[in-house]
Amino acid sequence: MQNPLDSKLPHVGTTIFSVMSRLANETGAINLSQGFPSFEPPDALLERFEYYLRHGANQYAPMPGVPALLQAIADKTLRTQGRSLDSATELTVSTGATEGLFSAITALVRPGDEVILLDPAYDAYEPAIDLSGGRAVHVPLAIENDEFVVDWQPVADAISARTRAIVLNFPHNPTGAVIDRDGLETLAGLLRDTAVYVVSDEVYEHIVFDDGRHHSVLSHDELWERSIVISSFGKTFHATGWKVGYAAAPAALTNEFRKVHQFTTFAVNTPAQCALADYVESDPEFYLALSSFYQQKRDLFCKLLEPSRLRLRPSRSTFFQVADYSEISEQADVDVARLWTTEHGVATIPLSVFCETPFSGCRLRFCFAKDDETLARAAAILSEL
Ligand code: PMP
Ligand code: GLN
Repeated sequence: MQNPLDSKLPHVGTTIFSVMSRLANETGAINLSQGFPSFEPPDALLERFEYYLRHGANQYAPMPGVPALLQAIADKTLRTQGRSLDSATELTVSTGATEGLFSAITALVRPGDEVILLDPAYDAYEPAIDLSGGRAVHVPLAIENDEFVVDWQPVADAISARTRAIVLNFPHNPTGAVIDRDGLETLAGLLRDTAVYVVSDEVYEHIVFDDGRHHSVLSHDELWERSIVISSFGKTFHATGWKVGYAAAPAALTNEFRKVHQFTTFAVNTPAQCALADYVESDPEFYLALSSFYQQKRDLFCKLLEPSRLRLRPSRSTFFQVADYSEISEQADVDVARLWTTEHGVATIPLSVFCETPFSGCRLRFCFAKDDETLARAAAILSEL
């Protein structure tokens, strides 16, 4: 028998989100690390979930998803991105975006393939590439005036005959970077004569600030043909614990996606799907107002941090704010994150864990999806440092 310690994922430990949240809980620190809201889903959505629990929605859902939810997602996508999706053949409900990403990457990547990731890259992508026998090729974002932006030349340089896919994540976790129409055009041009697929993680699709809008891969005809777009209701409805997401892709790609999905999870929580189906249709105001809701949080948090020695550019999207702490400490971000949690009582996420090479410098990510009082308490501590 092969040694069971011959790990298929030798470089993977416990995720930074688990590590920092556990440390925050153990020490009683204010937890601005792992990204989850401190507020509840809307009442009307909770009411629908309770209703379906009591009205027979407790057995397996169909493998691709509850038809009413698939239709609700198709309607939302038409409304927000102008793409008309066939809910029967181009959409699949997944167990959160995490399962969607895993199924998408596993469906596409074969041994020897390369997959381009833009660093800092969310930590769920590379293990799925590795398990498929592929190799992640990390291309750092550029930093301009304290902001992370895509520099397309190194992306172009990284594309080769071995490239199977590129993973995009806009609105971007952890930096809040966004992609605009020109960015989509540039990418489409780079991929035009290649066989490269796009896996586009768009879980923060409804959180974009300063009158910006989210430019989804779904909105671009040429990119759409080669894309699997992943999203999640966790961020959109303050329901990260429900783990309901979805994948949109042209029928042939959806077919491949479902081959993996059906053996990864088969079907997703039925009452949650039924509840979301009703709520997505009945209350579009909620997700349409989400950007302004979080923009107020961002503005408050940035204002509260003005007296601090943290240097920051207000985030353009998501519910994360990145700040440079180099005026406070020269220590590595991983050590600073740990120290500030245990000694000062504020937990954050160090950016370097998302990067192959630690180009991101002295930067931490703060989650501002918290009630105002929590943000004020955290900022008061940070302003003393
Ligand atoms: N992608 C990104 C960029 C995320 O921040 C997260 C975490 N919310 C996920 C995927 C996973 O989403 P879910 O909780 O729906 O699995
Ligand atoms: N996406 C969340 C974040 O970025 C964490 C999700 C998780 O803990 N797996 O903080």
